[in-house]
Amino acid sequence: MEARADTPVTGRLAYMSEPRVLAYAEYPLPELEPDGILVEVLRANVCGSELHIWNGKHPVKKRGGLGHEMVLRVLAFGDRRTTDNRGVPLAVGDRIVCTYFQTCQRCPQCVGGQYNLCDNAYEFFGRQPEEAPHFHAAFATHYYIHPLQNVYKVPDEIPDAVAAGANCALSQVFYGIDQIALQQDETVLIQGAGGLGLYAIAVAKERGARVLVVDGVAARLAQARAFGADHVIDINELPELEDRERAVLELTNGRGADVGVEVAGVPAAFAEGLRLVRRGGRYLVMGNLSPGATVPFDPGYVTRKALTIRHVDRYEARYLWKALTFLAEHGTSTPWKNSSTPSSRSPTSRWRWRSPSTARSLAPSSPSPTEGNRYEHGYTRTSRPLDRRGAPPAAVR
Ligand SMILES: [Zn+2]
Ligand SMILES: [Zn+2]
Repeated sequence: MEARADTPVTGRLAYMSEPRVLAYAEYPLPELEPDGILVEVLRANVCGSELHIWNGKHPVKKRGGLGHEMVLRVLAFGDRRTTDNRGVPLAVGDRIVCTYFQTCQRCPQCVGGQYNLCDNAYEFFGRQPEEAPHFHAAFATHYYIHPLQNVYKVPDEIPDAVAAGANCALSQVFYGIDQIALQQDETVLIQGAGGLGLYAIAVAKERGARVLVVDGVAARLAQARAFGADHVIDINELPELEDRERAVLELTNGRGADVGVEVAGVPAAFAEGLRLVRRGGRYLVMGNLSPGATVPFDPGYVTRKALTIRHVDRYEARYLWKALTFLAEHGTSTPWKNSSTPSSRSPTSRWRWRSPSTARSLAPSSPSPTEGNRYEHGYTRTSRPLDRRGAPPAAVR
């Protein structure tokens, strides 16, 4: 299909010329392949992965376009790409979202059905802006969708600000929680209340689980409550791992959480999560993404607890539609529309959590000048090797 007459002929993009250096460029809008789609970027988010790239910590990407969480508007589409991946007809002006990666359908993982692990997932996101079709990332006026990226029309009721988080964070959480098979009435402990953590709270509550959240940033904990967390554990109030462990045990009849979800992104959180999940429990790891950061690991401890540990990278493309369906039902409520809105809930759950046996640890702490890094700081400072006591805690033996 031809572009509309009022379609601009060039677009602008921001890219990282080297770590922590932003540059801008302008390029002609690309010619369409028969299966391609040219879109305007309505809104793009800053994902945590972008910060890793920006700081030069990504294992491969040291230069190039940034941005992969976004909501888009169709400008033009090729002759063979007339519907989205559910068969819904596309029209110029439609709002759509797309997977930020492709599934090539020909690599060993794709052929074997592990589509989220496609070897060629970043064939285009990894290209440099000077390479056609130029618009490989979302911090730009335009974006080019390749034939093997899934696209879905966005239901009208989902605001742009909510839809923009669907194609990375929410789909990731949805897929991970399915992979760990969270069940109704199970207790899930979510480590980290950033974007992934808040989505995990919402999805877990919708599944009928009981949700505990650990973080060290007051604003995040407030959002965690707004998104439905049943109990929050503040690292500032319980700076020692042993105290957090005791708190979780008290909330779980001395057992530990049925399921742990690591979305903190710091290795120490992984080591801690192994302690906080019950014997025979399951542990989903999605936040620790950057190879090279290590933490002591005690395989015997994990065997004694008979834990199932599931690491998940990316998601199956069909989960993007599941995420949109979820947002169409839940994404217009207050915490989604404005996640900075203070929770209307009373702090009852937090107060109840302050049982006498932990009250000694709960003196109010003064604000930290490094509050934004408090979660990582808290874990880094208080974690210790798993085998310090040489065996699982009594409650899990
Ligand atoms: Zn992302
Ligand atoms: Zn593949």
